[in-house]
Amino acid sequence: MSLLIDAIGELSTQHLTGEASPASGEGAGVLRDAAVVLEGERIAWVGPSAGAPAADERYDAQGRAVLPGWVDSHSHLVFAGDRTAEFEARMAGQAYAAGGIGVTTAATRAASDGELRRLLAARVAEAVAGGTTYLETKTGYGLEVGHEARSAALAAEAVDEVTYLGAHLVPAGADPEAYTDLVCGEMLDAVRPHVRWADVFCETGAFTEEQSRRVLTACRDAGLGLRVHGNQLGPGAGVRLAVEFGAASVDHVNFLDDEDVAALAGSWADWAGGAAGVPGTVATVLPACDLSTRAPLAPARRLLDAGVQVAIASNCNPGTSYTSSVSFCVTTAVLQMGLTVQEAVRAATFGGALALRRHVGADADGQRAVGSIAVGHRADLHLLDAPSATHLAYRPGMPLTHAVWRAGQQVR
Ligand SMILES: [Zn+2]
Repeated sequence: MSLLIDAIGELSTQHLTGEASPASGEGAGVLRDAAVVLEGERIAWVGPSAGAPAADERYDAQGRAVLPGWVDSHSHLVFAGDRTAEFEARMAGQAYAAGGIGVTTAATRAASDGELRRLLAARVAEAVAGGTTYLETKTGYGLEVGHEARSAALAAEAVDEVTYLGAHLVPAGADPEAYTDLVCGEMLDAVRPHVRWADVFCETGAFTEEQSRRVLTACRDAGLGLRVHGNQLGPGAGVRLAVEFGAASVDHVNFLDDEDVAALAGSWADWAGGAAGVPGTVATVLPACDLSTRAPLAPARRLLDAGVQVAIASNCNPGTSYTSSVSFCVTTAVLQMGLTVQEAVRAATFGGALALRRHVGADADGQRAVGSIAVGHRADLHLLDAPSATHLAYRPGMPLTHAVWRAGQQVR
């Protein structure tokens, strides 16, 4: 079964040609009056609407804009409970500290499998309704062997990529060193069948540099790809550790010194774009989290200008960013972080794919590239009820998601 989507007013492919600048995304293939043909789960053709081949079915975009579906490379969706009171207290002037995670952990442990499965499915549906077609989520509200393994297994049923975040917080009453040993040993073994990634919250109040190093080493040795929560609440070792360990992404990055930025930029020195060379460590910014914690916005402009690849993600979680709206994050990145619309769209599509190392074709899992629109890539499309992607920032807060295809299936 093939589908022709034609009369696309603006098609933002985010597919870089050889001449394009990988850092800025300039030349990232914005086509006017374009068409796309989907065949099964893949994109079979991209080009001018006038020259489009016939297909079994046709969808008339009526001049609307099409982007790759959002790739949300950072979320925490496996949880129960509510932290409205903590949010209210923060809005009344209390500072955010890492300890609130413990509240969610208690509620999550108490929830049944069925309840967690239902909550997770509802959250994934919300994300898809907002244009997200590829989704990462993390464990980290179990914080004991059985509960982390359960979270990982439930997440693997519901999302595209699962990350082990046993190192989210040292549970109340636990000895930090003994808990780190557990994260690196028995807990890692229990989650391993369900996850592709491991993450550590390297921050004052969470895990020290030395503990983070132990977690990253053990998880790397177990064959997991690495990600780091770093430099969110203050300066720290997170970014430097992420680069040293060749992590695919370091996330938050609110407090960076010149050395941090240089280390991130240096990690991209051997990458020439697309499949050429070795990708470095993506700096993932989480604008909704910055706003919800009233933190200084991460320096996305400075990072892009330094040649760092940037991703934008939701960080959807009950404590600090209870939204999966990547469109909202893109709007914020444009209006408040100084990105152009195309830079922000690129960070939330191709950038997210880079952060999950799914930016190029079939890998060992036999999976197609996501986050850009090109022949052979997964057919993940986001059609806006607007003539251009610029409307995402020009009309902030408006519900512009008009239709969504995920792996070739219309899901909205
Ligand atoms: Zn997070």
